[in-house]
Amino acid sequence: MNKPLKLLLVSTPVGPLGSGLGGGVELTVLNIATILRQRGYKITIVAPETSELESFSIVEIPGILQTLAQTQNRDDPVILSNNSVLTNLWNYAIKVADQYDIIVNFAYDWLPLFLTPFFKGKLIHLVSMSSLTDVMDQAVQNTIKQCPGSIAFYTQTQAETFGLKGGYFCLSSALKLSEYHFCKQPKNQLAWVGRISPEKGLEDAVIASARTGIPLLIMGKIQDQDYWQKIIQNNSQAPIEYLGFLSTDKLQEQLRQCRALVMTHRWIEAFGNVAIEALACGVPVISYRRGGPTEIIRDGVTGWLVEPDNINQLVNAIQKIDQIDRLACRQQAEREYSLEALGDRIEQWFFQVIS
Ligand code: UDP
Repeated sequence: MNKPLKLLLVSTPVGPLGSGLGGGVELTVLNIATILRQRGYKITIVAPETSELESFSIVEIPGILQTLAQTQNRDDPVILSNNSVLTNLWNYAIKVADQYDIIVNFAYDWLPLFLTPFFKGKLIHLVSMSSLTDVMDQAVQNTIKQCPGSIAFYTQTQAETFGLKGGYFCLSSALKLSEYHFCKQPKNQLAWVGRISPEKGLEDAVIASARTGIPLLIMGKIQDQDYWQKIIQNNSQAPIEYLGFLSTDKLQEQLRQCRALVMTHRWIEAFGNVAIEALACGVPVISYRRGGPTEIIRDGVTGWLVEPDNINQLVNAIQKIDQIDRLACRQQAEREYSLEALGDRIEQWFFQVIS
């Protein structure tokens, strides 16, 4: 591209950046903004009030936070409350659209998809979760029909959940690798990292930890208190320790000292940023063979993929974790998940969109 583009990044309306409520998409916004700024793009980020994102200044928008799509039923209608931050974010974006070359949407919501063909300027979307509701599936399919190339997903597996045959881009994900440090000799402990919410299936990792007797460190935002309390009550003997929602620096410091990261999600994980964070520290990943992690983990080389919801297989995989070479994990992260590689993929997407 000849001249640096002016970009408006419109963040998720489910929580302020830095709160953890947005899950992996918060890290994605940071990483995309970082690599594109390094490459000379002019970046503006607009996000819910009280957002914080390292050295980026943010246009903060007030309003009621959006309901989490993963708590909705498949046939639920679109929800837009009075004074919704989603509506307010997009009112702002509409007003300033002609000042930007590209507007990138990070919300998993019907409204910005619906607006795509009517927008002044190029509106494109990173869809951050797999198919959850009929109304979103329809919106994704219509948007691709009307504006081919305007949607990117993290992974192929995720895109397929929307019943798509093509017309989209796969971005994968990335990390600032220098912030994650390789650890050759872990302690005898396992890690579980993520939002504590039913679709993440934490209870299976807790049971596996109890069965193997290997302590489990749990890190992440408690999004569903009742769910968390139930896990504690039902597993009072399990050797688990909850460390809270940690900053990236503290997170990697704990994670890297673990023998493995265990991923026990019940839904089709769109990507699973935590998997590449583990690999970047040299930590093998044991995951259910479901969604994004199946495209990340090299079975038997950088971790183990096991049958979904099968705790026996999870336990077996934990018992053979020392067969995995930790250096191979770090090397995979360096090869496939650097910010530079992500920057190249995004520029390819932009190039297609602009041309
Ligand atoms: N995370 C964090 N601190 C924690 C636990 C998790 O910052 O204590 C972040 C982690 O770095 C990752 C995100 O939470 O970026 C979880 O993203 P993932 O893609 O794994 O799942 P999602 O929440 O998007 O479903």
